[in-house]
Parts: sequence; C-alpha cells; structure tokens
Amino acid sequence: MKKFVILGGGYGGLTIVNELLDKSIPRDTELVLVDRMPFQGLKTEYYSLAAGTVSDFELRVTFPEHDQLTRRFGEVTSIDLDARIIHFKEGDPLLYDQLVIGLGCTDRFHNTPGAEEFSCTIQSFNSTRRTYMRLNEINPYGSVHIVGGGLSGVEIAAELRESRPDLNISIMDRGERVLSSFPQRLSAYVHEWFKEHDVNALSRVSVTRVEPNAIYNHDDLIQTDAVVWTAGIQPVKVVQDLSIAKDPQGRIVVNELYQIPNHTEVYVVGDCASLPFSPSAQAAGIQGEQIAHIVQAIWKGEKPQTHAIKLRGTLGSLGKKAGFGYGFLGGTALRGRIPRLLKSGVLWKSKRHFG
Ligand SMILES: Cc1cc2nc3c(=O)[nH]c(=O)nc-3n(C[C@H](O)[C@H](O)[C@H](O)COP(=O)(O)OP(=O)(O)OC[C@H]3O[C@@H](n4cnc5c(N)ncnc54)[C@H](O)[C@@H]3O)c2cc1C
Repeated sequence: MKKFVILGGGYGGLTIVNELLDKSIPRDTELVLVDRMPFQGLKTEYYSLAAGTVSDFELRVTFPEHDQLTRRFGEVTSIDLDARIIHFKEGDPLLYDQLVIGLGCTDRFHNTPGAEEFSCTIQSFNSTRRTYMRLNEINPYGSVHIVGGGLSGVEIAAELRESRPDLNISIMDRGERVLSSFPQRLSAYVHEWFKEHDVNALSRVSVTRVEPNAIYNHDDLIQTDAVVWTAGIQPVKVVQDLSIAKDPQGRIVVNELYQIPNHTEVYVVGDCASLPFSPSAQAAGIQGEQIAHIVQAIWKGEKPQTHAIKLRGTLGSLGKKAGFGYGFLGGTALRGRIPRLLKSGVLWKSKRHFG
C-alpha cells in the first residue's frame, strides 16, 4: 500500500482529507492523518476558550472515519525529507510516499527576554487551556497586559472584558493604533469600543522584557498579573528545523502546485506555506481544496489545474455582540452586530463542514 500522509488535522490538512474522502482514493493508497490531538481544534476561536466564554468541548471537531483512512495521534518531532520518514516523540517512525505538511504555526517572541517563559499564549490548544487557567484565576481587580494589537490581541482583549468585568485590561502595540493592517476607520471603531468598555489601549510600546509579574515598556516596569503574547507567529518548530528554502516569515517556499520544489512528493498547506498573503484559516481551507484537486488529477494521470486563491475578507469579534469586517463587497468596512453575526455563521459553517 502507498502511504499518503497528512501532518496536521487543522484547517488545511483536514480540508484535504475531507475533500479526498469525498471523491475516490486509489485502492492501493492509504491516507494517514497525523495530529497530536484526536480532534481538530477550531483555532480561530481560541481567544474565547482563553477568556473562558466557551468550553473546550465546543471547539473540537471530530476527525472522519473511513476504511482507507488511518488516524495516528502523536507528537511529530522531525521530518526526514530525503529518507521520507516522520519521527515521533513516542512510537515507531512513519514512512510515506506522499506527504502534506500542515502543522500550522507557533508564537514568535522576537528574542524578547522572558517572553517565552513568562507569557501566556493562544497558538495551540494546550497553551490556550493554560492561558484560560491563568486568566481566570487572577484575583478580583487584577491586571492583564496583552502584547500585540493584531486580530487575536483585539479579540482576546474584548472577550476577556466580557468574561471578567473586574479586571484591568491593557492592550499594547508598538504602532500608533490596533489593527494596523486594517483601514483606519476600523481601528478607530475598535479604539472607541475599547474606551467604552474600559480596555486601555497603549500605543508606541516597545516590550523589552517579561518577568513573572512584570512587563517592561522600554525601561519602565509595569506590574501585572498576566501577560498574553499575541505579537507574532512563525511555522512550528518541526518546520523551522527543515533545511529547505523559506520566505522571510519562515514559511516553506512552494511551486505552483504547492509542492516543495526539490521534493515534489511533499505538499505544504496553510500557515507553513509561503503564500502571497498573511496566514489565515480561510486561506488554509481554500488552499487545502486546491491541493486535493491537484492530488486527484495526478492520481488520474491528468494535468492538474491551479487557480489563484481569492480571499473573501476578514471578520473579527468584540465580545459576543459586536464585531468588524473588511474586504467584503468592494472593500466596505463592516462594524457592529452584523459582522459579529457573520462571524458566528462562519464558525457554524466550519463546524458543519469539518464535523
Ligand atoms: C486567536 C486566533 C484568531 C484567529 N482568527 C482568524 C480568523 O478570524 N480568520 C482566519 O481566517 N484565521 C484566523 N486565525 C488564523 C488561523 O487560525 C490559522 O491561520 C489556521 O488555523 C491555519 O491553519 P493550518 O491548517 O495551517 O494550521 P492549524 O489549523 O493550526 O492546524 C495545525 C494542526 O497541526 C497539529 N500539530 C502542530 N504541531 C504538531 C506536532 N508537532 N505533532 C503533531 N501535530 C501537530 C495541531 O494540533 C493542529 O491540529 C486566528 C488565529 C488565532 C490564534
């Protein structure tokens, strides 16, 4: 049997598995889905798990079952591209004929002393659970500092405000405004929401050090009960360790079929792949569908078709009742309840699609 191994059952990897199972898989091929978890974690909602407004269970999607699909749960430690072997923390190595790398991303701490050791993070399911414990055990009227005013920083600040009205919450960014990659009017809307909901937005901050109960802005020490780091991402360590061509963000350079140029038996999907836009679940899903079509075509001996990935826009939440969106209907900026409802709709759809 030939082994088609998919590393990572996230937005990209699981889309490929579902798409392939929906069509036909050659009888001499076995799909092997590998993940450290026995379910998909809906990462776009990790901010709400961290804040304590949804339960762990609500963010899990079960993996499919099929007679040509084997599921292997374990921690991947390395990939040997030349020998075509996956190594695990425990258990036997796994050989593959074809491979998909879809292991997602982890935090980037920019060499800030203490940041990795003393910050809470929301880039993996288990780190998010630890963040939930830390944030929800803070004594009444304690303080939380969120580093990074991008989408996940904004979402966790707002969600935590709803979950813990007593806390002093600050969101720190090195720029002038949060959501710097969004239009000015959306940042202004979010700043207004923060003002109304007593979230302190600090601009032009440079975090130089994190300690167990302190964070430094340049040389100024700020006492805190928790630091949440949302100030950068990079592909996971297994990908960082691969000696192959990467882009400046550390993502693997791929050809037009999303394969590693010198290893065309290996596809890369989602946050690990160098694509012409920022990593997102939406991009991972669309790219996953395309990879499945490419693989199907190659299996049938046909010429694979490729299409440019067209993204539909980005939605963000400010708690459960407000939100924002950009990139829809010719660049309209959406604010308030409608984008929040749309975001809930997207979550509902991904649960149905994957589950
Ligand atoms: C708080 C937050 C909010 C976000 N909001 C949005 C949003 O609104 N819209 C949007 O489009 N994107 C959003 N994103 C980004 C989005 O979640 C990612 O871009 C997306 O999850 C990438 O998909 P992926 O398939 O590459 O990786 P993932 O979905 O992260 O899947 C990777 C999988 O690999 C597994 N894995 C990783 N390492 C190992 C290992 N060593 N061994 C075994 N298994 C491993 C993980 O368990 C996981 O299941 C958000 C991210 C965060 C953190």
